[in-house]
Amino acid sequence: METFTKSFTRQEPIPEEAIAAAVAVMRSGALHRYGADPSQVSTLEREFAAATGARHCLAVASGGYAMGCALRALGVGPGDAVLTNGWTLAPVPGAIAAVGARPVLVEVTEDLVIDLDDLAGKAHRARVLLLSHMRGHLADMDRLMRICEDAGVTVIEDCAHTMGASWDGVASGRWGAIGCYSTQTYKHINSGEGGLIVTDDADLAAKMTLLSGCYMLYARNGTAPPEEVFARHEGAMPNVSGRMDELRAAILRPQVADLPRQAERWNVLYRALETGFRNIPGLSVIERPRAERYVGSSIQFLADDPDRVPEFLAGCAARGVEFKWFGAESAQGFTSAHRHWTYVEPQDLRRTDAVLSRLLDLRIPLTFDTNDCAAIVRIAHAESLTAFVTL
Ligand SMILES: *Cc1c(COP(=O)(O)O)cnc(C)c1O
Repeated sequence: METFTKSFTRQEPIPEEAIAAAVAVMRSGALHRYGADPSQVSTLEREFAAATGARHCLAVASGGYAMGCALRALGVGPGDAVLTNGWTLAPVPGAIAAVGARPVLVEVTEDLVIDLDDLAGKAHRARVLLLSHMRGHLADMDRLMRICEDAGVTVIEDCAHTMGASWDGVASGRWGAIGCYSTQTYKHINSGEGGLIVTDDADLAAKMTLLSGCYMLYARNGTAPPEEVFARHEGAMPNVSGRMDELRAAILRPQVADLPRQAERWNVLYRALETGFRNIPGLSVIERPRAERYVGSSIQFLADDPDRVPEFLAGCAARGVEFKWFGAESAQGFTSAHRHWTYVEPQDLRRTDAVLSRLLDLRIPLTFDTNDCAAIVRIAHAESLTAFVTL
């Protein structure tokens, strides 16, 4: 019986050019972003701003920190309601809870994006939407922005899974007032931990720079707004330290430049899996809208019959193919669902629960090739015949 032996969590090595830059930083001893001028961090900020077309970029300690910083800069505080997706990963409701605010969860659709009808119905309940482009699926951003503008809701985009993706030609992270990215190992560029924030708004950029802890050295940031903008906010912003360091920035700069090529490699693997899974009984692939340019770093399927999922998963796991299931009773690894976040007040999300009970997820590491994708398809196909097909 065929088994699959590669790891679903194995990364590619850091590029040699990045390793050389990191070694040079270590030789200098100047690991703090304000210890070098110009610094790797400020150069990364300029390069990422240019790559996304944003006026300002701030490099920070993690994706979770980026979202918390964005919420604080928008004045979200204790007791405030913040709209967010009912299906996302734990750092998103966690960032809302970290500022003492309350997540108001919005349903997700079978296309795995935020339900825009439900959003329209709930928009009056909050001033801010922390929109998670969960697993790289982009909602109809034109309609989403119209709903939010009409309701006076400011949008923060969580682009942890959409760095390099776009909707209708506009990069994800550039629709809302603020875009947040993660450079944690399991995202699109890898510095172990790290985050990037983009915005066109000078006041928000200054507030976030002050929040991140700049010790009045903000003029050295890569894309800092003018002095007078900082003067408006100095003293009013607590220092909630969360800077990026030189080592991470040195590792990230070559990866930012390489992102378009990596995105294309991901999509080759994604399309190989998508094509193969179209013929597997009991599972459907998620159709991607024309306006969406995605980065296929993971792939999702919906099972017709949730009751048969455990048998299918066990059969695949025994042969080395590791699906994650968002419908499990208890949280497993990163697949927690809203009912597992007991610090969030329980909310009725029937449609989301029905989707999650059928939702399977597969990571696509770049250490796989198309032969690996073919092997995964063969194994899943064989196991689907046992689990889903009743003779
Ligand atoms: C990883 C992730 C983040 C941020 O993660 P950090 O680990 O804090 O960098 C945010 N949102 C989603 C959906 C994620 O998967």
